[in-house]
Order: sequence, then C-alpha cells, then structure tokens
Amino acid sequence: MSYYPILQKYNGLDFQNIFDTTTDSDIERAISAESINELALLHLLSIKAASKIESIAERSKELTTQYFGKTISLYTPIYLSNYCTNKCPYCGFNASSKIERKQLTEIELEREAEFISDQGFQHVIILTGESKQIAPLSYIESCVKILKKRFSSISIEIYPLTETEYKRLIDLGVDGLTLYQEVYNQSIYKNLHQGGAKENYLFRLNAPERALSQGMRTVSIGALLGLNNWRKEVFFAATHARYLQDKFSSSEISISTPRIQPQVNQFKPEVIVSNRDLVQIITALRIFLPRVGINLSTRESRALRDNLIRLGVTKISAQSSTAVGGHTASNNTSSPQFETADKRSLKEIKDHLLNCGYQPVFKDWVSF
Ligand code: SF4
Repeated sequence: MSYYPILQKYNGLDFQNIFDTTTDSDIERAISAESINELALLHLLSIKAASKIESIAERSKELTTQYFGKTISLYTPIYLSNYCTNKCPYCGFNASSKIERKQLTEIELEREAEFISDQGFQHVIILTGESKQIAPLSYIESCVKILKKRFSSISIEIYPLTETEYKRLIDLGVDGLTLYQEVYNQSIYKNLHQGGAKENYLFRLNAPERALSQGMRTVSIGALLGLNNWRKEVFFAATHARYLQDKFSSSEISISTPRIQPQVNQFKPEVIVSNRDLVQIITALRIFLPRVGINLSTRESRALRDNLIRLGVTKISAQSSTAVGGHTASNNTSSPQFETADKRSLKEIKDHLLNCGYQPVFKDWVSF
C-alpha cells in the first residue's frame, strides 16, 4: 500500500464543482468542527473561503497554540553541491543552466559547519542537486559524519533513495528528510521532468514512505506552488501528509508550502499564488492537520513570515543562503538556487520571536 492509490481515487473528484458550490455554511462548519475531513478541507481551500480568511486564521492560530504552544523551531540549510542531471525548468541548478558548478570539499564543509554552529544553530538541512555520480551516497555519508560532530539534528534534501540507502544514512545520524513532490498532477510532472532520474514520478512519491519505513524521525513533504492549480496541489500534499501521519504515528510529519521564486532561468510560474492565497493555504492546512508541523523558508518576505508565525507556521529557516558554501563569505562564489527574501540574521529573527512572546527552539531532539 502507498499513497498512490489514494491519490488516484481523489483524482476522480470533481474539484471545480466542489469549489464552485461551496457555501458559507460549509466553511463555517469546517471552521468550528473538532476535526475535519477531506471535503471540508476543499471547502476551506475554495475561492469563497477567501472572504472568511479572518475566521479561518483565528481558528488556525488557536489550534497551533493548542498543539505547539508559542514555539518556533529554527534551522538553516547547507548547500553541499549544485551539480544536477535533471532539467527542472523552474530551478537554477538544472543541468542546462550556465552556472558555476561547485561541490564542497570536506575542509570547506568543516569551515561552513563551524561558522553555522557558532551562530547557535543545532538543526541543519543538507542539500544537493540530483547527481548521484558527482555527489554519491558515500559523499553524503562523509558530510553527515562531519556535521554529526556539531549538530543535534541533520536532515537531508537530496535525490530520492532506496530503503537500504535511507537506512545507511539513518544509522549515521540523519534524522530528517525533506522531499517535495514538486507537482502531484502526474501529467504536468511528466512534462516538467523529462530526461534525468527525476522522470520517475512514483519513485519520488513513495520516497517519504521508504524513509519512514526505515525509522526516519521527521519527514517534510510539499508541492512547489505555481506549477498547477494551487488548491488541488495543496489538497494532494495535505492528504499525503495525513496518510503518512496515520501510517507512521511515531514519526513527525511536516508540510512546506514553497512558492516559485526568481532564479537564473527566468522561469515564469503557470499560476500566481498571492500572499493572501498563501495565508489561506497555511491556515486551511492547520485546521485539517492540527498536529503536523508547517515550515516556511526565507523564500518568503520578512513581513509575511512574521505574520504567518502567529497563524500556523511552526518551523522557519534563518540566515539562509541557497548557494553552495554560501554561509562563509570565502566560499560564496557559486550561483544561488533561487533568491531568498528574508535576509535577517539569526539574531534579528530570534529577537523578533522573543519580542512577540514566542520561544525560539534550536534543539528539540537528542540523539545518542
Ligand atoms: S529542482 Fe532539484 S532536481 Fe530539479 S534541477 Fe533543481 S536541483 Fe536538480
């Protein structure tokens, strides 16, 4: 069993009809219910629900405080390598991009890790482009061994792996996986991912489950917003998260809502997702998935992040660079994957959270 048969079943829904016929009382029922089903989630994602965003946001805020308290977890990404064999047109690292390619050496990673841990971070996410030839599993393993000396939580955002490969990384101390499906609509996925290993839709879709089956502690999934009708994509990401949460109840599932940002290829999104849409997305997700973490990266502006922290987000990145070796100035020569918007330092973000009555959390996990 995997999420795929469930996705196929939902593909049979008449989404447009549900969105078009959602009534005020459907939305009000979803806001006041103890828990909501998939149909009620669609009501909260409908166009009509946008006019009730204040009430939806109020409920989302209440549930977030109930389940997470006033805490925000903080992490930062470390880009290890920007070599990639895939051609995702929305990404600055794609194989056709004329950018300088770079991969950190062990010495460069040591320097990057020292700088980041001196800032106070305890949780890092390591990222690579998808080139198993240039950044093979053995390279990732060497990097994890270096990072393990300084950080209590290490997540990976790399190419999808087999169960055995995930187990190897978990045994070394990796405790988190971030893997976005990019777009759940299979025909759009096929059009956007031609050539390269990423062509394999199902291998990617089932990767979170493979990692969880091997004992991965936390898994973050999501759709890249802007590639398809966002209401449908959010619905699929949300039902995928609920499926994983129900099946792997001792692991932590979280969801991200990345929007396409400007990058070197000047890719134009198919669909514009406005700030107001993003507020609707995050607050609807919270009501559908009260226990699931919601992540928001520095892709988004300072003002929007500060606002969303109060409404449903539970984990944010800080002081991010999307360039390989981007944390340490002397390494900062490679092109970024995309532009970040919130450029505040970790200290500025931490001070802001404390001023708003939130506890910044650097470590919520001790591994032995
Ligand atoms: S999104 Fe990932 S797989 Fe696609 S081009 Fe960028 S780095 Fe490569």
